[in-house]
Amino acid sequence: MALDSVVAHMMGCPAQRLPFLQRAKALGLGDFDLEKIEIDGELIQIPNFKLPPMGDQARAGSEAIRAFLHSKAILRPKADPSRCTACGTCVAQCPVQALSLPEDLPIVDADICIACFCCQEICPEKAITLQ
Ligand code: SF4
Ligand code: SF4
Repeated sequence: MALDSVVAHMMGCPAQRLPFLQRAKALGLGDFDLEKIEIDGELIQIPNFKLPPMGDQARAGSEAIRAFLHSKAILRPKADPSRCTACGTCVAQCPVQALSLPEDLPIVDADICIACFCCQEICPEKAITLQ
């Protein structure tokens, strides 16, 4: 979260405007407050960095497009049954509890998943692909 906050600042975007950082902070995963982040060297903003529309501005653009992207266009993790050992590591580490292990294979709730792909990174069997 500290790295995301610093990079957001460099792009001229206040970290507190980013919903995923707000959510991560609410879950106790860290803090985006620059006062609480140890930074080596000088923190500068990139001159004239052009940000896409954000927050209310983006939402006002098209709720339908956002919903479509969320449900269809964004990749979601899927476990490969030939590799998965049902160890549960991905379920335990998902920051928004989008994964469950009802039987021997984790399944994702696409409405909750924030597509961070931590589960793919952390899986010891490299069993998670993106679909
Ligand atoms: S971390 Fe990998 S091996 Fe373990 S349950 Fe999740 S997908 Fe299966
Ligand atoms: S991509 Fe992130 S939010 Fe989605 S199931 Fe994996 S760890 Fe959870």
